[in-house]
Amino acid sequence: MRASSPQTVGILGAGQLGMMLAEAAHALGLRALTFAPEDDAPADRVANGRIRAGYDDNEALARFAAQIDVATLEFENIPVSALTRLAAQKLVFPGQQALFVAQHRLREKTFLAGHGFPLTPFLPVGAPDELPCAFATLGGDACILKTAAFGYDGKGQYPVSDAAQAEALMRSLSQATCVDRGPWVLERRVDFMAECSMIAARRVIPGQDACDITHFGLIENHHRAGILDWSMSPALSLADLEETAAKLTGDLMAALDYTGILCVELFVTRDRRLLINEIAPRVHNSGHLTREGFVDSQFACHLQAGCGLAFGPVVRRAPAAAMVNLLGDLWFAGANAAPQEPDWTALKAFPDAALTLYGKPEARSGRKMGHLVVTGEHPHACVAQALAAREALTATAATAASQSRCP
Ligand code: AMP
Repeated sequence: MRASSPQTVGILGAGQLGMMLAEAAHALGLRALTFAPEDDAPADRVANGRIRAGYDDNEALARFAAQIDVATLEFENIPVSALTRLAAQKLVFPGQQALFVAQHRLREKTFLAGHGFPLTPFLPVGAPDELPCAFATLGGDACILKTAAFGYDGKGQYPVSDAAQAEALMRSLSQATCVDRGPWVLERRVDFMAECSMIAARRVIPGQDACDITHFGLIENHHRAGILDWSMSPALSLADLEETAAKLTGDLMAALDYTGILCVELFVTRDRRLLINEIAPRVHNSGHLTREGFVDSQFACHLQAGCGLAFGPVVRRAPAAAMVNLLGDLWFAGANAAPQEPDWTALKAFPDAALTLYGKPEARSGRKMGHLVVTGEHPHACVAQALAAREALTATAATAASQSRCP
């Protein structure tokens, strides 16, 4: 049953996505309560409170349910059982089916292929000794092996380019010391010309058996070492593909009976076809630029969709926006052994760059610590500004380190 005008949104997870969801909740006049097991989490600085417990703690989940009006999630590795428990008492969006499908690559690809969505060819690999045969079946070159569960930001991925590599990988995955346990998915590497995402929100129209969908247009994404490096909106060079991407995303949301924000990550092939890489049943890193670039961000749209609030269409605040991620590596830019806080005053030379830090207690290589968003007239100019601002932060860190080494 749909709750009307909920006062408190429950958020499973308390990372940076939870933090930005909680901020958006406050801006919409809602309270935000999070639920997560870790010690010190980004959303703690913003949310009205947190139940600190494991996702399998049924007593804590019951206490959480008693204090919220609706529940949502900020990452897909929440056990489906936690959602099912909450759904018995409160509206949960998106529902268990979307989470169940999206948290396991093999299930996701099987679901997508079964519903006719375009994907790169793939095969399941249940055990390491199945790898050589699967590799040969997929053509015997240019493949990637990915763990089916708990893989993100390029983690748990292995390129496989020839039969010898497939055999060697099979041997190393078979060893008792290997932490990566199957099952895996082997997929053909896509020789893409671009990567992009379609972030859309869907809501059930109250009192009607119909749905509304709104979307942010195609966002172009660039990855480095499997991690999102920067995003740009609008994706001008992909404008001709936007309608197809929106239709595909709408069809997928209908197939999943979806409420809230869904992100569909896409490859654009050299002959301009769209292939789905993966889906995220939540707000997404590539949509951070919607906070400064649009009147209602992806975070606001997600809550509006799930909480029965005024919804869509999305409206731009500025013609263009770009985001660059700030990884923990920036804290080590000076090549000192100890991490060093970047000199944020360097950003004063970039008045169009908005900084968001997640307040994570420890910087680590590859860890997302914050991001910069630049809005402006042209997407490429926004990207150039955002990259220059990040470069200035890197340069000041290097200078500070060399000065600290001077006698
Ligand atoms: P994923 O964690 O699966 O989203 O992968 C992270 C990044 O690795 C993607 O955004 C791509 O840049 C790259 N990647 C993953 N799968 C493939 C593929 N089949 N072909 C080419 N690049 C890929």
